[in-house]
Amino acid sequence: MDTSTVPHIELAATAACTMATKILAPVKTERQIYENSMLEDDPNANSVVRPSKEDSNTPRWGPNHRGAQELANLYSTGKRTQECICVGIFITLMAVNSFFIVIRLRIESLSSILIAALCGIVTADFISGLVHWAADTWGSIELPILGKNFLRPFREHHIDPTSITRHDFIETNGDNFMVTIPALSKLTWDFLTLPESDIQRRFLWICYWWQLAIFVALTNQIHKWSHTYFGLPGWVVWLQEHRIILPRRHHRVHHVAPHETYFCITTGWLNWPLEKLRFWYVLETIIELTTGYKPRVDDFKWAQKRS
Ligand SMILES: [Zn+2]
Ligand SMILES: [Zn+2]
Repeated sequence: MDTSTVPHIELAATAACTMATKILAPVKTERQIYENSMLEDDPNANSVVRPSKEDSNTPRWGPNHRGAQELANLYSTGKRTQECICVGIFITLMAVNSFFIVIRLRIESLSSILIAALCGIVTADFISGLVHWAADTWGSIELPILGKNFLRPFREHHIDPTSITRHDFIETNGDNFMVTIPALSKLTWDFLTLPESDIQRRFLWICYWWQLAIFVALTNQIHKWSHTYFGLPGWVVWLQEHRIILPRRHHRVHHVAPHETYFCITTGWLNWPLEKLRFWYVLETIIELTTGYKPRVDDFKWAQKRS
């Protein structure tokens, strides 16, 4: 062998090793998780890292955090009414569309419907990440309508991650159900107005939108389960442990301050590739350069309201 090629091989091997180490490195170390997130799986808070004196006097997280209490009190009757209406409309539209779809299901189209389901899950995971990232990173509680009604739960969730486990079905799912209403209304409209031949031609596409709506609607319930360390049904734990829905340990990575990664909360499948592509960081940099707005300013402001 030509001896001049040996240093090149060594260089290439070192570069490959460095790249592999970077790719395989954990997104957050155990120490970062313990130091910069709330322990939700340990009711006695027996952290391996001793809390600092400041932390034991003024809580950084949890229901006693002053900012969290202030945000919880902003949950209004008007908001509750909007959530109840959205749950009602969603259940009606979902039942109607499911009926129209189920009566057309054929055994021979099962494999294509499963592929549509897989595409639906992946799209829902991406949408969950995009919406979660946008709400966590930009805007403020002061924004009219949007702030108190739709950004408030995101701010509260970072300083008191366990609050979601105390929310009932309506508060947990109302907003996600609302997001699916336009798509479900369009599907119902198509079923009622299109000739059967058109419905058959578009059937796979219809199944994709229907399943996407189901996964988007389920997302915050799945997210709630990822924060529930006690009393979960066995089948939910099975789905989490097999990474079919957002696993608990996986979602802890998002809850490490400053909450800048792992935004996808349906299955979490896209979190790792998006982090390795630095997707959120690049998006934030572009927005900051073009608008001058800094990410997570409002989130940080609420985190500071400790006492
Ligand atoms: Zn978040
Ligand atoms: Zn969470």
